[in-house]
Amino acid sequence: MSAPRPSGTPATPHSPELSPRTQVVAAGRPPRAPGASLNPPVTFTSTYIADGPVNYARVDNPTWTPFEEAVGGLEGGQALLYSSGMAAVVAVLALVPRGGVVVAPAAAYNGVVVSLTEAAQEGLLEVRWVDITDTAGVRAALPGADLIWLESPTNPLLDVADLAGLTAAAHEAGALVAVDNTFATPLLQRPLDEGADIVVHSATKYLAGHSDVILGLTVTNDDEPGRELRTRLARHRTLGGAIAGPMEAWLALRGLRTLSLRLERACENAVELARRLADHPRVSRVRYPGWGAVVSVEVAGRTDGADEAEALAAGTRIWSNSTSLGGVESQLERRRRQPGEPEAVPVNLVRMSVGVEDVDDLWRDLEQSLAALG
Ligand SMILES: *Cc1c(COP(=O)(O)O)cnc(C)c1O
Repeated sequence: MSAPRPSGTPATPHSPELSPRTQVVAAGRPPRAPGASLNPPVTFTSTYIADGPVNYARVDNPTWTPFEEAVGGLEGGQALLYSSGMAAVVAVLALVPRGGVVVAPAAAYNGVVVSLTEAAQEGLLEVRWVDITDTAGVRAALPGADLIWLESPTNPLLDVADLAGLTAAAHEAGALVAVDNTFATPLLQRPLDEGADIVVHSATKYLAGHSDVILGLTVTNDDEPGRELRTRLARHRTLGGAIAGPMEAWLALRGLRTLSLRLERACENAVELARRLADHPRVSRVRYPGWGAVVSVEVAGRTDGADEAEALAAGTRIWSNSTSLGGVESQLERRRRQPGEPEAVPVNLVRMSVGVEDVDDLWRDLEQSLAALG
C-alpha cells in the first residue's frame, strides 16, 4: 500500500488491479484506524442483540466475512462459506428441481459421484455421466440439462475440461454451470471469467492449506442472476445449518495468507517430481496436466498393481499415507481404497498431493519406497 488511508476505510479494496499474490495477504483486514487490530477478531456468539442487520448466528457471523471477501475477490465473485466442501456441493445440487437433469463427470470427487448416484437411484434426479475431456460428447449430453457439474482438473484422474467452450454450450442449452475449482484454486484458474455461474471449493484443501480444518465455499457472480443464486444458496445454508465454526473460518483466512507462496513451491515440486516419476521403471503411467500440485501415478505390478500401489503409499517416511490434499505436507494414497471411488479410477493409481518440502527429500523418499517393491 503506498499512501496512508484515512482511518475507518477498508484496508483492502478488492481492486482487480492488485495481484492475487497481494490480495491473499491484504484482503479481509479490519478497517485501518489508530490502535485497530491488524487481523479480524474471532466472534464466538450464537446470537445478536435485536434490531441489527442479523439476528442469529446461523444466518451470519462476522468471522466468516473476511474469508468470504478474500476468496470472493480472488474468484471475481461473491463467496459463501460452509461447514465443508460437501456442504457447498449439496447446496448447489439443491438448486436442481426435483426430476431435473445433471450432466457430470463419471470420474470426479467421489463424494459428488456418490451423492449424484444415490439421488438418481432415488428418482430425484437424472444424471448423464460424461468424460469431460470429450467436449463433443459433453455437448451432446447437454440438451434438456438443468446443471452441468464440472471439475477441472478432476480428482484424481487430473482430466482437464474446456471450461469456456463447455460453459458457452451449457448456457445455450439453458443449463447452469458449476465448477469445482478445488484443485486449481483461483490463482491458477478463475471459472467465473470463463462464464461459469457457480464456483465450488473444498477450502479444506489449498485455500486453508494446513490439513487442520474442513470448510467449503460457493462463489457466484456479482450481477443480477448471480445475486439471485447467492440468495438461494444462503437460504439453503441458513435452513440446512451447514455453517462454519468461527475458529475454523479464522484459521482458513490465516492459511490463505500464504496461498501463493505455498502453491508456487508445491507446483514447482510437482513439475519436477512428475518428470522424475515418468522415468521410473516401477511407474507405468504419470498423470499430470503440466500445472497444479497434484500428480497421480499408476504403479506397475505383478498382477493389477494394487498391492504395489498400497506398498508404495505405506512405505514412505516424509509423505504421509493419508487421504486429502492441498496441505503444506506431502500426502499420498491409493485412491481405490476409498469406498465409493469411481471404477474409472485404476486400482493401481496413487494420488500424490505434493507439498512444500524440499523436492530432493521428497524424491528420495519416493525412490526408497519404490525400490522396496522389489
Ligand atoms: C475434498 C474435495 C471435496 C469435498 O470437500 P470436503 O471439504 O472434504 O467436504 C470436493 N471436491 C473436491 C475436488 C475435493 O477434493
